Amino acid sequence: MDSGTPTRRRLLMLAAGGSISLTAGCINTPTSGQVVSEEPANYCLDQLDESVPEAEATALSIDGVERQPAEELLPKDEAGYACGPQDGMLCGNCTFYIDDKNGNAIGACAVVAGEVRSVDWCGLWAPRDGFGGANSE
Ligand code: SF4
Repeated sequence: MDSGTPTRRRLLMLAAGGSISLTAGCINTPTSGQVVSEEPANYCLDQLDESVPEAEATALSIDGVERQPAEELLPKDEAGYACGPQDGMLCGNCTFYIDDKNGNAIGACAVVAGEVRSVDWCGLWAPRDGFGGANSE
């Protein structure tokens, strides 16, 4: 598949425009030594379809972010998608999360390909509007 380069370019363009906050061009990854879950990091992936329902594919995120064209969505492995939250960060409090529209309790994402669960996380996580921060007390 050769969609990696345009996807990275598009995400970097979004970051430059302020739509995505990336630190020094890097994708956040779990801090070494921190246990996110006792399950393997990818245990949930076989529950997630690579396609999303049309109602979610055309929906805005919970903060009103328009979903990227399919060819520009980042594959889960490149986004560092992991099953379960990371230090309070999860899809359900990410600005890019698109709520479930078909009642299967699985949503989508404005920047990552395929179905995503509200309880998972990836390195493109950005706080939704009004979120106090991953480590706020
Ligand atoms: S954490 Fe990653 S996969 Fe989940 S909604 Fe945010 S950008 Fe999408």
